[in-house]
Amino acid sequence: MSVHFSLSARVQSLKPSSTVAVSSRALELRRQGIDVISMSVGEPDFDTPPHVKAAAIAAIESGKTKYTAVSGIAELREAISAKFQRENGLSHAADAVTVTSGGKQALFNAFFALLNPGDEVLIPAPYWVSYPEMVAFTGAVPVPVPTTPESGFQLDPGVLEALVTPRTRMIVLNSPGNPTGAVFPPDVLEAVAGIAQRHNLMIVTDEMYEHLVYGAEHISIGTFAPNHTLTVNGASKAYAMTGWRIGYAGGPKAVIAAMNAIQSQSTSNASSVSQYAALAALEQHEETMRFIEMARTAYRERRDVIVAGLNALGLPTPTPHGAFYVMANTDRIDSNELEAARRLLDEARVAVVPGTDFGAPGQVRLSYATDMATIREVLARIEALVG
Ligand code: GLU
Repeated sequence: MSVHFSLSARVQSLKPSSTVAVSSRALELRRQGIDVISMSVGEPDFDTPPHVKAAAIAAIESGKTKYTAVSGIAELREAISAKFQRENGLSHAADAVTVTSGGKQALFNAFFALLNPGDEVLIPAPYWVSYPEMVAFTGAVPVPVPTTPESGFQLDPGVLEALVTPRTRMIVLNSPGNPTGAVFPPDVLEAVAGIAQRHNLMIVTDEMYEHLVYGAEHISIGTFAPNHTLTVNGASKAYAMTGWRIGYAGGPKAVIAAMNAIQSQSTSNASSVSQYAALAALEQHEETMRFIEMARTAYRERRDVIVAGLNALGLPTPTPHGAFYVMANTDRIDSNELEAARRLLDEARVAVVPGTDFGAPGQVRLSYATDMATIREVLARIEALVG
């Protein structure tokens, strides 16, 4: 006898993450022995630094393996509070900080803590695939704010403000940005902060790529509008700790308390062992900064090679000033980016993420968080395809 059940209306309209889907497909093809190079998932190719691993091993051996406070261990929240002050000029006491299972859970908790069905959320496009999906999952409405490749995907505060309506509740920012690599300059951030204050909007700023800037300066928008900003960050990109799943957020205490209530009813707390690892990354600051500097130098060299290579192959690609992604125009392969991505995978054996779910038609995203030899091989494969 078959069992009948129906999925919730909410989940039926949820699209699974395309960044995760493409990289899973690439992994599957590799398992089948097909020589696919994945430029899809945004994940540092560097290993987690040794001092971080050592702290995790010590945590396991000393029995730090139990539940922690919902918001994270006090030492980690103190270290994050100090980091916000030192690196971002933000004053968030430890009780205005929460630790989550990756940046994604911080965002998810924040959206559910702040949004009601029908609320509008302004999101500069191209955007990371998960922002509009998470926002829509709450019943709120994502409203893309267009930017152009010609401007290097720079945000125009005037364009953003023109989209504010009586239903607008929030602005989501991501600078340095995934997938564009755009870094918003201080005057743009100050203008957006002013818009948030004038219209009483909450800014949720995802600063996961803050250390990965090349000739640009990262500024936290929370310095301009502290009472209107929730700052989200995490260990994944800066410390090459994607699999450890440590994200965090700092902001108004009432928002953090609401996020903690959601977390208390879902995951309880981020992994205890991972929290001790992240604590070492923050406390052993100088060692960690040496690692970040090494990674940043490598990413910058790779960026220069991949941007020059793709442009030379007739795939127009703006030079990003942050993160580790490029957005390439794929008209030369096919005017439809889904078809272009399919041909890149099936014929060139290069996995990329089509721009569709990033709000970037006609483009694909390549992550260059991979070694230089692989980047050169990718360029050779694409050259063979476009001939
Ligand atoms: N943020 C990375 C990406 O865009 C990791 C995958 C994900 O969580 O989407 O590829």
